[in-house]
Amino acid sequence: MNALGSLTKEIKAKALGLGFRAVGVTSTDRLKGLPHGWVADVKDLKHPEEIQSSTISVIMLVLHAWDKAFFMQIESPLWKGYRLHAPEENVEGYYITYQISQTKAWPLAWLLREKGYDAVITNSIPMKATAIKCGLGSQGKNTLLIHPELGPRIGLMAILTNAKLEADEPFERDQCGDCERCIKACPSGALKPYNIEINRCMAYASENPGGNQVPPDVRALTERYIVRPSRCSYLECTICMDACPIGKDVDGLLQTRTRTQAR
Ligand code: SF4
Ligand code: SF4
Repeated sequence: MNALGSLTKEIKAKALGLGFRAVGVTSTDRLKGLPHGWVADVKDLKHPEEIQSSTISVIMLVLHAWDKAFFMQIESPLWKGYRLHAPEENVEGYYITYQISQTKAWPLAWLLREKGYDAVITNSIPMKATAIKCGLGSQGKNTLLIHPELGPRIGLMAILTNAKLEADEPFERDQCGDCERCIKACPSGALKPYNIEINRCMAYASENPGGNQVPPDVRALTERYIVRPSRCSYLECTICMDACPIGKDVDGLLQTRTRTQAR
């Protein structure tokens, strides 16, 4: 095995040892033409080189998010929504999947730095499109990344590095076929195959409590469906995720749910 292959192998083994369930690698020259800039008022997507100019490789880490609690958000009472704050306002919020993935990714970034490479952790690149380039799954009709074993119940975190690594082959297979369970399950009618009308999505509505572009009927559905464990927290809508049969029974999850429900 050459040096390129052995470093890639070491990084992947370390990532799996840290508890990520899958890991893929791509090179920045395979990421040209991916979405950039503000997407639907939710995220300001960057090119990897804008975040760290020396970047030539992207390591994509997949966290298995097997419980709804992974999708809990804890907001500041001041939070109004993306782009609704003045630039100087520092309003904090925490997303459990993101916090766990970031914490788990640190030892891997440090491993690269100890070897003399640049390494930064980010989720500010187009995560789903990059994960597809890393061979980690396809985009589902619910617009989520569908990992072939874990389904859509995942969190993604990326490490950008100037280490030259062996790139994985992109994922090219459609996994949805004629299934439309997620589209039928969405209470607000936000989904069309591989497309989302973001203003009708309850996840978007919850993240943007001050956004006036969310129709009143979607606000009403959000009140009905979104679980709020405490004053400043809520569980993001996962109905189209829960509906997906792919990965639903990984690790015996269905049995666990049945036992829990029986109590
Ligand atoms: S997150 Fe909820 S509201 Fe948004 S598309 Fe999925 S099921 Fe519909
Ligand atoms: S529920 Fe069916 S259509 Fe939707 S993402 Fe999963 S496999 Fe694809």
